[in-house]
Parts: sequence; C-alpha cells; structure tokens
Amino acid sequence: MNSATQSVSFGKTTLAVAGIFFLLCPTSSSAQTVQKFDVGKGERLLILAPHPDDETLGAAGLAQQVFEQGGSVRSVVVTAGDAYVDAIEEATGRHHLKRADFYKYGEQRLEESQKAAQLLGNGALKLNLLGFSDGSIYDMLVSNWWRKYPDKSEYTGFNHVYYKQAEKKGMAQDGQDLRNELVAILRTSKPTLIVFPDVMEDDSDHAALGMFALLAIDEWLEHQKPPRPQPRLLAYLIHWPNWPPGANGVKPVDYSQKPLYLPTNLPLRGHVRACVDLSRQQTLTKREALAQYKTQQNFMAPYLEAFVHSNECFTQLKPADTDGIEKVVKRWQNAKKSFSSHPNTRRRIL
Ligand SMILES: [Zn+2]
Repeated sequence: MNSATQSVSFGKTTLAVAGIFFLLCPTSSSAQTVQKFDVGKGERLLILAPHPDDETLGAAGLAQQVFEQGGSVRSVVVTAGDAYVDAIEEATGRHHLKRADFYKYGEQRLEESQKAAQLLGNGALKLNLLGFSDGSIYDMLVSNWWRKYPDKSEYTGFNHVYYKQAEKKGMAQDGQDLRNELVAILRTSKPTLIVFPDVMEDDSDHAALGMFALLAIDEWLEHQKPPRPQPRLLAYLIHWPNWPPGANGVKPVDYSQKPLYLPTNLPLRGHVRACVDLSRQQTLTKREALAQYKTQQNFMAPYLEAFVHSNECFTQLKPADTDGIEKVVKRWQNAKKSFSSHPNTRRRIL
C-alpha cells in the first residue's frame, strides 16, 4: 500500500507517461479475457514490493500456493514506507514531525514485514529488506540515476540506506544501484515467477518499481546464454481510482468469499489477465499476514481488508515485453521535465 501518498497531478501524469509504454507494446484491446493461472511444481517465486505490505496485498495467496507446490518464495521490499505523514501524525499525536519520527516509523514497518513473512512462509520465505526511503523510487528512476547524485529523503534526511534491518546499510539511494541490486537478486534466485507492480499504478513508487522490475528483468535475461529462462511475469495493482470496492470505506467490509478482478478501465495493453483462485484457508492466512501490519491496520484497515478476496489477479506479461524498456525509461525521464508539480507532493490517498 502507499505508505506515503502522492499528488493528484502525478496520478494523471502516470497515466500520460505510461501511455508511452503502449508504443512498445502490442495494440491495446478492450477484450478482457481472464485466464486461470496455475502454479507449477517447484516454482521459484520472486515478489517485488515498493512498501512493506504491498507484497502481502498483491501476492500472499500466490506465495502460499507456491509453497504448497514445493516451491520457494523470495520477497523484496524496496523502501521502509517511512514517509506516511498522515499516519505518523495520527500515531504520534503531533503535527511537527522530526526526522527521528519518520525513521522510527520505517523501523516499525520493516519489522511488520518480517512478521508477515514469517507467518506466510513458516520461516521459509526469504525476505530482502532493501531499506530505501519511501517516495524515492520514482526520483531514482527519472532524476537520481547516478550514485554521485543520490536522492535525499525530505523526511528522514537520508540519501543512503540507513535501516539496521536493511540488506546493505550505506548503499547510495540512486537508480543504478537499485537496478543492479535487483539484477543481482534475479541472478541468484533464478525465478520462474516474478511478481511486481504494474507500471500504470497510480502511485509514484509503485509505477517506478514496475519500471525498475522490467529494466532488471531485461538486463538479467540479456546476459543469459540460450536457451534463456522464460519466467512468467505478473504485474499486480494496488493503487487505482475507485478500486478496489470498499477500500475507502469507514469500516472494513468482508469480501473474502468473493473474487476481485482488475478494474475494467485498466488498459490491457495486449497482455492477458490471469487470476489464481485461493482456498478459504489461503484467503484467511492472507488476512492474518496483513494483520501483522499494525501501523497500517491502525490507519487504514478498510483499505487492507479490501484486498482480501477468494482470488488474486494480475496482468501477465511475456519476457519479450521487456524488450526496449530502456527507451521507455528515457521517455519517462524526459517527460519528468514537463511535470507541473513534483510527484512527491504528499497527500493522504484515501
Ligand atoms: Zn505501496
């Protein structure tokens, strides 16, 4: 979920620049056929999440199915979700927040990720906490690509990874380092299934991590000797206007016995929709894993519960869809120059 928040204008901008992506994709279609996604034996699942809880919201059910089929699961949480101003103000009862408040909140969220991972995998889920600053991913993609120009968080003040739970404390906060880290993870984990945010997500960190995922997958596959791996690529969606039902409610609504499909106004882009059906127990375990995110439950329980359904749906891409992704990133970087407002302008999303 969006820890931080985002500007209204960025939502529009995301859609505009994401449209560029269509230029390198097959023709968009209004047909929205949903395919049943089957998990094979011994799959290696890699889940990429911008903030603590996104991995659970997007793919906790899929992760359980992979374990049940004798596979392995690795989850990578890129930021600490430490810039959720409204939530921190509510939690502390103060409006004048200090850098230490943001840092402490990030630590709490990272610990919550560890608890959720423990619950989902009974200790078998490998969790990588990269510990970057909340809100930094888009900037790292479009304006802070090089190590000598790292992105500095306006909340914690860090321009490098500082959290004690992080994999590489001290790593500079720049795009090249993040991409290289993701490529290294791909090389060592050799995933057969890769789950990451949709580039059309209406949130800067989410959309940008979707781009980083495609960049890293392209780089990884390009250097593999034939026959190259053919991982199945699944893009999940968390942030979209007026979706999912119940997300903006006052109280959590139990939709756990009903399926949730991707919004019909999410362009198909020539890809396919794929859904996994969850058992009742898998759905309930997903809810239990989300309950570990106490900071988020305290602030937005209806939002979290809105993702607890009897299925999980994704946009499925092919490895060949990553071809030319560097050109698309260049277009995003250029488009940044025409933005009328900074994407990290914050507001509560609910
Ligand atoms: Zn998020």
